[in-house]
Amino acid sequence: MTIPANEDVAESSGATGDVGRTEGVAFQQEDGDYLTVMLLAAGLARIRDDRRRMDAGEYLTRTSAEQGLLPVPWRSGMTRLWWRFHTAGQVPPRNDLALFELCRTPFNEWPIELRLSVADLEQSLLDDDELTPLAEQAARLSGRDVEAELVENHVFRELMLVAEMNANDEGGVQTNYCDLRRLLIDKPVLTEAKVRRLVSRFPKRGSNGQPIVQRFIQAAYTRRAAQGPVAIGVCDGCGNPTQRGVGDCGTAGCSGRPTSLNIEAVGGYYVQHRATRRFFHDPGLVEARVLDRLADVQAEGTISVEAWPGLDAYDIRVSFLSRSGVVEVWGADAKDQVSPGLLGLGFTWRSDPPCDRRFLVLPEHRADQPGYVADLTTELQGRVSGVSVVSEDAFVARVIGKARKVAER
Ligand SMILES: [Zn+2]
Repeated sequence: MTIPANEDVAESSGATGDVGRTEGVAFQQEDGDYLTVMLLAAGLARIRDDRRRMDAGEYLTRTSAEQGLLPVPWRSGMTRLWWRFHTAGQVPPRNDLALFELCRTPFNEWPIELRLSVADLEQSLLDDDELTPLAEQAARLSGRDVEAELVENHVFRELMLVAEMNANDEGGVQTNYCDLRRLLIDKPVLTEAKVRRLVSRFPKRGSNGQPIVQRFIQAAYTRRAAQGPVAIGVCDGCGNPTQRGVGDCGTAGCSGRPTSLNIEAVGGYYVQHRATRRFFHDPGLVEARVLDRLADVQAEGTISVEAWPGLDAYDIRVSFLSRSGVVEVWGADAKDQVSPGLLGLGFTWRSDPPCDRRFLVLPEHRADQPGYVADLTTELQGRVSGVSVVSEDAFVARVIGKARKVAER
């Protein structure tokens, strides 16, 4: 990677703009029903986005061919379903309203038998009028969750810009990248004092004189005005703000309890954007946990750990060290997703930087879910080879075991 020397970096950083995102989902014949689910989810996401924009007073200028019709992916999904119902000898949903109703129904209660993984069959696409986590995962995989993608890309672009502009070489960019990724995982709430410390850590200014790290913060967080002592309700497990009157943080697998974060506000404080929480914070929790546990092992000198190597080619790279040097290298990608079927469909592995063994690491709350590992493994077969699916505890245990063996050599 080259380090841009001027302010025109916004465009050039686009080269790395797709890091961490799914690309090139390869469909196989038996994935037909997953494709239908993805189309419907993409359609629902579009309908939601359109509704939000209209609520915000924006006039939608669609091409006249599309006017008055629901989005293309929704209609394609409906057509595919029509054929599935028809060949199964069932009566297809009569109209859009009937199909919306079907989207609120768990797949295993549909009149036709969908070929989805066991865990996915218990899910639905809509929970009342909200997209379910599965629908969001499906819409994202289909690349049609426009709103989510815009926010995610925006945050990512600003993060890369701060990392690149505040570094002198590739190693510096990588260090900055890790620090900023970690910030998004560790700090769902930022105080003004923390922002000041970030500005002194990343001092580079843009052409308007504003530190570019502030632009990144504005993209990833929303500012709340406040003065004096403020008590912010947060979860002591994941750090996410809790809603007043609701004890649960809503984070998958989190067993934290509501607590109070007391700060002294000077004008305001910052809370993560919903999309930042969804795409960077919550999925990052498992990555951070594994990295922290491996850091303890690293202190013993038997392994060396790299976080998000190659600017996030995957999450963790572990080198096992003997007296004579590096003996073996393991790579791990940690994934916290609701649907094992969709995770398997969208999973890819970047070969650079190289490693001898590859692991797909699951948080315990996914690995413990009946059928999850089996469904994921089935879906990965023939798509990605040589990847072992393990829970986070099992992965850390394997690293410790291997490190001991290597050290004894
Ligand atoms: Zn929590």
